[in-house]
Amino acid sequence: MIVNKHPRTFILKRLLNQYSQVRFLQSSSTEEYDLVVIGGGSGGLACAKAASQLQKKVAVLDFVTPSTQGTTWGLGGTCVNVGCIPKKLMHHAALLGEAIKDSKAYGWSVPDLIQNDWETLSTAVQNHVKSLNWGHRVQLRDKGVEYINGLGSFVDRQTVKVTDNKGKQKLLKTKNTVIAVGGRPYIPSHIPGALEYSISSDDLFWLKKSPGKTLVIGASYIALECGGFLRGLGLDTTVMVRSIPLRQFDQQMASLVTDYMESNGTKFLKTCVPVSIEKTTGGQLVVKYENLTDKQTKEEVFDTVMFATGRHAVVRNLNLEGIGVEIDQTTQKVIGDHGGDHERSSVPNIYAIGDILHKRPELTPVAIKAGQLLAERLFGGSQVQMNYDLVPTTVFTPLEYGVVGISEEEAIARHGEENIEVYHAFYTPLEFVVPQRNSSQCYIKVVCFGDRVLGLHLIGPNAGEVIQGFAVALRCGATWSGISGSVGIHPTSAEEIVKLHITKRSGLDPTVTGC
Ligand code: FAD
Ligand code: NDP
Repeated sequence: MIVNKHPRTFILKRLLNQYSQVRFLQSSSTEEYDLVVIGGGSGGLACAKAASQLQKKVAVLDFVTPSTQGTTWGLGGTCVNVGCIPKKLMHHAALLGEAIKDSKAYGWSVPDLIQNDWETLSTAVQNHVKSLNWGHRVQLRDKGVEYINGLGSFVDRQTVKVTDNKGKQKLLKTKNTVIAVGGRPYIPSHIPGALEYSISSDDLFWLKKSPGKTLVIGASYIALECGGFLRGLGLDTTVMVRSIPLRQFDQQMASLVTDYMESNGTKFLKTCVPVSIEKTTGGQLVVKYENLTDKQTKEEVFDTVMFATGRHAVVRNLNLEGIGVEIDQTTQKVIGDHGGDHERSSVPNIYAIGDILHKRPELTPVAIKAGQLLAERLFGGSQVQMNYDLVPTTVFTPLEYGVVGISEEEAIARHGEENIEVYHAFYTPLEFVVPQRNSSQCYIKVVCFGDRVLGLHLIGPNAGEVIQGFAVALRCGATWSGISGSVGIHPTSAEEIVKLHITKRSGLDPTVTGC
C-alpha cells in the first residue's frame, strides 16, 4: 500500500497501464464499422437493423448485468424481457380473471373460487419472452447485423471496447456510435435491507414462485401496473405512495385510476416511506415504514417487497466523460440536440436514443422510431427528425388509462383557466352492465384551447387501443370540431369521445345516460 503511494512508482504504473492499452489497441482488428450500437434493446435493435438495410456495416453490443437478485435475460432489452411484454401478458392474465367472474352473469358455469397458478403463468410468459429473444437473434443474422454479447465502453471517439462475460476484450473501430443502453431500476440503497431483500421489476416476471403477499413501493407507471395485476391475480397487494400517484399525469385521472384499484382490493399506504426491511427466520420480510403526515412509524410483514421507485441511467462504465459526451449531472442521461439533431450528443459522431436520451419519454415506440429515423438520416440521406410531441401512452392498470397530449393542470398553466374548455363524461361500458360492474371511474375528458385539442384522456377497458387511433388523428391535425363532428361506432366505449358535449364549466351532470 505504502509503495503504491510513492509518486515515482505511481507514475511508472500509469505508464505501464498506458503501454498495455496501446499494445491492446495495436493487437486488435482494424476493421471499421459504419455504425456500432451499444445496447440491444428497443431502440438499439431498430437502429442497427435500419442501418444494415441501408447496406452499412453494423455491430450491436448487448450485455445484461444481473439485477440485485441475480436475474438475467436474453437479447431484446427492457421491453421484451422485463417490461412491456411480460407486464402486458400478466395484466391480461389478471383481466381474464375478472372476465371469468363476469362470465357467470352471462350464463357460464364457473366455480365460486377461481385461482391463478403463478408457475403456469410465469412459465408461459417466460417461454414467450425466450421466443422473442430468439427471434431478435434471427432477425439480426438475416439483416446482416453483427451481434456481440458483450459490455461496450468507449476507448476514444472512434473506438469501442467490448468485454464479454469471461473478461475477453475486443476493440471495434467505428465511424459512428449510437448509445442505446436504456436504464435500470433504482432501489434506494440507504434503506437498510432494501438491496438485500427486495426485488424490482427486473425480477418480478422471472420469479419461479408466486410473490405472495406483496408490498410495492412507488406510485407511478410500474408500481401501479404491477400492483394492479398482482391484485388481479388474487394476491394480497399493498402499494406504498410517498406523495401523489402518477405524478406526471393529469391528477383527476390519476385519482380515478387508484380509486378503481382500491375498490378492487389493492391497499394503499398513502404518504408513507419505507424505513427498513428485515428478514424473519421463516423468510418473511418485516417492513418498518413512516407515515410522513402523522410521523408515526408502523410495521407489517410481507412475503415480497418490490421497489418501483424509478429507473436510472447506468453510464459509469461507458467512459462518456472521458471522450467528451455531455451528460446531465442529475439524470446521468446523454444530452442531445446538438448540431440541430435531436439525438446527436456533444460529440458529432456519437448519438443517443431511447431511455438514455435526456428529457425524452421513456417508451418503447419512442426508442424504436428515434432509432429508425436516425439510421435513415445517417445513411439514407433523410433529414427527418423525430417528433417528440403528441406521444400517446397508456398506463395498464386494471382499468386502463390512455392519454395523448397534456393534462388539464398543464393546459391551465400554459393558457389560463378562462381560455381552456374541458369536455367530459362518466360513461358505462356496455360489457359492465350485465355483471353490474362498478363503472364509476370510467371517465373521458378532452382538454381544448379553442378548437385545438391539447389533451385527450380516457379511463376504461382497452384504453390503449382507443387512444392509439385518436393519437394518429391529432398528429394529422384533428381539431375538436373535427372529432365532435365525427360519427361514432355503436356500441363502443370509444364513441363516447366523439359524443362528448358537456363542458366542466357548465357544471351539468356529465354522466352518460341511454344510448
Ligand atoms: P432498453 O430496452 O433498456 O435496452 C438497453 C439494452 O442495453 C439492455 O439490454 C441493456 O442490458 C443493454 N446495455 C446496457 N449497457 C450496456 C453496455 N454498456 N454494453 C452493452 N449493452 C448494454 N414502454 C412502453 O412503451 N409501453 C409499456 O407498456 C412499457 N411497459 C414497461 C414496463 C416496465 C416494467 C418497464 C421497466 C418499462 C416499460 N416500458 C414500457 C418502457 C420501455 O421498456 C423502455 O422505454 C424501452 O425498453 C427503452 O428502450 P431502450 O432501447 O432505450 O433501452
Ligand atoms: P417514475 O420515475 O415514473 O416514478 C417513480 C415513483 O417512485 C414515483 O411514484 C416516486 O414518488 C417514487 N419514489 C421515488 N423514490 C422513492 C423513494 N425513495 N421512496 C418512496 N417512493 C419513491 O418511475 P417508474 O419506475 O414507474 O417508470 C419509469 C418509466 O418507465 C416511466 O416514466 C415510463 O416512461 C416507463 N414505463 C412505461 C410504461 C407504459 O408505457 N405503460 C409502464 C412502465 C414504465 P414521488 O412522485 O413522490 O417522487
